[in-house]
Amino acid sequence: MSKSTGVVAAGTFGEFGGSYVPDELQQVLSKIAEAFDKYKDDPEFNEELRYYLKEYVGRENPLTFAKNLTEQVGGAKIYLKREDLNHTGAHKINNTIGQILLAKRMGAKRIIAETGAGQHGVATATVAALFGLPCTIYMGKYDTERQALNVFRMELLGAEVVPVEKGQGRLKDAVDEALGDLVRNHETTFYLLGSAVGPHPYPTIVHHFQSVISEESKRQILEKEGKLPAAVVACVGGGSNAIGAFAHYIDEPIVRLVGVEPTEAASIAEGVPAVIHGFKCYALVDENNNPKPTFSIAAGLDYPGVGPEHSYLKASGRGEYVTVTGKEALDAFLTLSKVEGIIPALESAHAVAYAMKLAKTLPRDESIIVNLSGRGDKDVKQVYDMLNQD
Ligand SMILES: *Cc1c(COP(=O)(O)O)cnc(C)c1O
Repeated sequence: MSKSTGVVAAGTFGEFGGSYVPDELQQVLSKIAEAFDKYKDDPEFNEELRYYLKEYVGRENPLTFAKNLTEQVGGAKIYLKREDLNHTGAHKINNTIGQILLAKRMGAKRIIAETGAGQHGVATATVAALFGLPCTIYMGKYDTERQALNVFRMELLGAEVVPVEKGQGRLKDAVDEALGDLVRNHETTFYLLGSAVGPHPYPTIVHHFQSVISEESKRQILEKEGKLPAAVVACVGGGSNAIGAFAHYIDEPIVRLVGVEPTEAASIAEGVPAVIHGFKCYALVDENNNPKPTFSIAAGLDYPGVGPEHSYLKASGRGEYVTVTGKEALDAFLTLSKVEGIIPALESAHAVAYAMKLAKTLPRDESIIVNLSGRGDKDVKQVYDMLNQD
């Protein structure tokens, strides 16, 4: 399903990626890497994956021409890849479906995952329910309090949510707990990781399962426009929706690949190469090399590091990484809702905001694909509060 991406050795992307973990965890990760290599091209595995993507997730989803937005902005045509229309409302389910099928092949009896704001936890609890596997989600205590509704959602789906009090009670602490659980219980347990981050093989696995986004969009844009887009624009938290949106264009040098980070959590734009959470990437770290806290209005973009493949695309010059502010994202959220009748996730609104700036600079006979990573229903209350705070 996915294409070569300049990977020079297993799990490394230039100087980035790799696996900086203790030996006992390394052994578990190696088993997952072996299973992934075995099944990723297995016809039966891919048949089952395609079945669930179609019948459960609702793929393929449309590539919608945003006619009104294009007219308002002027310049290149803006197309929206509609990951917001997937079951559960975002791209995350592409990866959780893929990984749980892998877990089943590996004989797993139990699924665990980390979650920050709760979106990956919900997508994981969803597929665990579908396949009847018990599921434990580790979530920082602080995050469980901020995102109480997502905790309830996961519980409705039958998952157990474990609030993590260690450390600062944030995402990093939840990841540490999940990795500890994996090492202790690896005979029975599969760790379903949520973004294109972490030690090898996770960034490669997530790239593979998310690349369905650009597999579809490339076919769709060629049908509609008869040529490739000038640019593909996606928001970047850990980088999973962006790598999926870029994958099938990486070997097409005429297509610009544009990753959009929040100014408030700009790991690539302002970070330095560092090892965090078991892999090397651009990261926002303090003088002791510890990840710094970040504060984006979009919870899903609030991560101090970024996937190793994006780090490599940046370093090699193949990818462009830009920032937009929370204010610009909020404006784009309001604009898209009003002129297209599509309420985007605040994360996706960052990509929309940049696409509006980029479209103006390009001729009318060119096109831009914006990956609309999710729908904004989850953010409506937050936007209400932001608009009514003063
Ligand atoms: C989680 C999430 C993101 C950010 O994660 P990536 O791994 O960078 O894609 C973006 N958009 C939505 C809607 C999300 O739920």
